[in-house]
Amino acid sequence: MWDVIIIGAGASGLMCAIEAGKRGRKVLVLDHAKRAGQKIIMSGGGRCNFTNLYVEPANYLCDNPHFVKSALSRYNQWDFITLVGKHNISWHERDHGQLFCDDSAKQIVQMLLDEARDAGVKIQLQCEIFSHTKIADQHFSVQTKLGDFQCQSLVVATGGLSLPKMGATPLAYKIADQYLLPVKSTRAGLVPFTLQQNQKEKLATLSGISFPATATCQLKNGGKKEKTISFTEALLFTHRGLSGPVILQISNYWQAGDKLVLDLLPNQDLFELLIKTQQNRPEQALKTLLALQLPKRVIECLLSLAEIESLPLKQYNEKQLQQIAELFHNWSPQINGTEGYRTAEVTLGGIDTDLISSKTMQCKNVAGLYFIGESLDVTGWLGGFNFQWAWASGWAAGQDV
Ligand SMILES: Cc1cc2nc3c(=O)[nH]c(=O)nc-3n(C[C@H](O)[C@H](O)[C@H](O)COP(=O)(O)OP(=O)(O)OC[C@H]3O[C@@H](n4cnc5c(N)ncnc54)[C@H](O)[C@@H]3O)c2cc1C
Repeated sequence: MWDVIIIGAGASGLMCAIEAGKRGRKVLVLDHAKRAGQKIIMSGGGRCNFTNLYVEPANYLCDNPHFVKSALSRYNQWDFITLVGKHNISWHERDHGQLFCDDSAKQIVQMLLDEARDAGVKIQLQCEIFSHTKIADQHFSVQTKLGDFQCQSLVVATGGLSLPKMGATPLAYKIADQYLLPVKSTRAGLVPFTLQQNQKEKLATLSGISFPATATCQLKNGGKKEKTISFTEALLFTHRGLSGPVILQISNYWQAGDKLVLDLLPNQDLFELLIKTQQNRPEQALKTLLALQLPKRVIECLLSLAEIESLPLKQYNEKQLQQIAELFHNWSPQINGTEGYRTAEVTLGGIDTDLISSKTMQCKNVAGLYFIGESLDVTGWLGGFNFQWAWASGWAAGQDV
């Protein structure tokens, strides 16, 4: 009989185990994977963007925007930075307050495993979960390949659906179903876009090119006043479509059928520049002027898609210059969809937070059952926000189990 069983030895599960263990609870963590914290190891290009200096509830998507507030304020980015400091892990800040390890993401996993060991936590890997049953309030039985385990508190920390190859499963949603807890429909988030075939072929030649852009998406707002969301970060052309931080960020908001608009010159008023240059250097070719602002191949490709010929500037009238400016400031690529869970960093949607206590992560209608991390209907922006949610929700449950 264990005090606490946590299913999932990922970011949130390990944090919860450490906190519960420190409180003297007898904790068992079960995971079907060979290694703990696999997503942490591969995160941030191997350097783990473990938190962000500027964490705010507004950086999260959740049907109830207030849900994240309590946990994020009780265990914040500075608490995690202190923990990282205690283990002498050096880190650096990148754009927008993103914090990364100087050396390796493996240090974060080792830090969590060391903390778990010191707190007396037992971690059982390669343990397939068959089913679980509620025997009574605060009494669960978990049936696994390695036998049956019983506990007072059961914490589900099995994450979302992204990267099925890494062992992601819908176990959390299945457990929620068992207790009639609603699950908000899920879809891939922080994910590259694919383009419709015609554009895909034409733009594939730009694969590898990257530069800053602003992505804007109109939000479906239940028929209410129109709302838009924008991000300005690097755009990357790939052989399948569009990626880079700006696309990953907007992918959390974009839904099939939505219009995506890209401003490829966010720091420039192209119309003004075209008019001025037409007056001062009328013989200059359009392409020559644009090549001072953007990679040549991008210009050629977009002008050809829009069937605009590059001529000396004096040959365009004002309306045509306006159209050229529009093309670069308001380019609307033909999005086909996303690359899906195969490459997505996160899962949007998940267990409805209405029936979860925002203070403890315990189900309001099942005493002793907790859900934490990405399994919940909470998704952060790109930039360390998802790990901060995993740490904060794991910490909150760890104080209560
Ligand atoms: C490539 C990539 C890069 C990322 N980079 C960043 C980043 O730099 N910064 C950031 O903030 N976020 C990043 N994320 C997102 C972040 O990894 C997740 O949001 C976070 O790991 C979620 O924590 P979690 O504990 O909920 O789930 P996870 O960390 O995914 O842990 C879930 C655990 O449950 C186990 N599990 C699943 N199903 C079962 C089952 N049926 N039985 C037993 N065990 C099971 C898994 O093996 C896993 O160990 C990245 C994600 C990916 C995919």
